[in-house]
Amino acid sequence: MPNNRQRTGLVAIDMFYLRLGHTSKLIIFSIVVLIHSSAYATDNEVNITCKRIASKLASISLSECLERNLRTSTSYSENNTPLLIKEYPPLGSREPQARILLLGGIHGDEYSSVTIMFKWMSILDKHHSGLFHWKVAPLINPDGLLRRKSQRMNANGVDLNRNFKNGINDNAGLQYWQKYTNSDPRRYPGKKPMSEVETQWMHQLITEFRPDAIVAVHAPYGIVDFDGPPKPPTHLGPLHLHLLGTYPGSLGNFAGEQLDIPVVTVELPYAGIMPSEQEVSRIWIDLIRWLKGNVPKDETRKSRQIAIKNSLLDD
Ligand SMILES: [Zn+2]
Repeated sequence: MPNNRQRTGLVAIDMFYLRLGHTSKLIIFSIVVLIHSSAYATDNEVNITCKRIASKLASISLSECLERNLRTSTSYSENNTPLLIKEYPPLGSREPQARILLLGGIHGDEYSSVTIMFKWMSILDKHHSGLFHWKVAPLINPDGLLRRKSQRMNANGVDLNRNFKNGINDNAGLQYWQKYTNSDPRRYPGKKPMSEVETQWMHQLITEFRPDAIVAVHAPYGIVDFDGPPKPPTHLGPLHLHLLGTYPGSLGNFAGEQLDIPVVTVELPYAGIMPSEQEVSRIWIDLIRWLKGNVPKDETRKSRQIAIKNSLLDD
């Protein structure tokens, strides 16, 4: 039941509404309908995408996907699939230690890299304490995953982990691809850096959210790779540090080396088989411990902001 003050407020709103002319009423009605239908469209898009993910990945049920309460972002993949995001914002008055961006499914045929995002989100749903401000994008490349035969590349045949700005010139990625991969189609960097909408979305997440660390999950090398400052984790659960180096246009090269953002690359041992439940939580616990002890480093934060600014000026 509304109290007296609320009731007075409601009566005032009613009186205001009655005094409006027909056109004004129509405008207000249209706005209300629009707000309702866009909220519905968002829910519906998430539902449809969850259905497609659950029918592709045996390790994620439809209810498990829906329970994560993912949201549509402002971006869509090349084939018009909404790019989904989940935010775990700061809580109450607690100032988060850092902003962390988690990215899964950059390569569409690395199933475990998507599933583990959902497992980690279910941990965060229960235990988000406000220590970190998280953004989770569990499936960067839905077109690569959600096709009859999943593929590493996006709908345009581009390896999104080679499509970032390379810091050299627009042709460096293509030249490297021809010279060192023998034009391997699985590693095609695209006609030019940032040509793909999914890469543009990752870039937007990085420049707008300004994460203090990025964690990207891949498979199947069974190691931890690291780019940028400061000291890498020696291991995360059963996965041990093994530095693979970067390639022109890779996330590690772009965010780690060019923007000075620590990039932890978790390489799960199998693309199609999930680590055990125990291993999933051991990797998570070690990751949190490492983030707590190492991110952010104040001396790198300043140079990072400058680098991000410059990256936006390049556009
Ligand atoms: Zn990968």
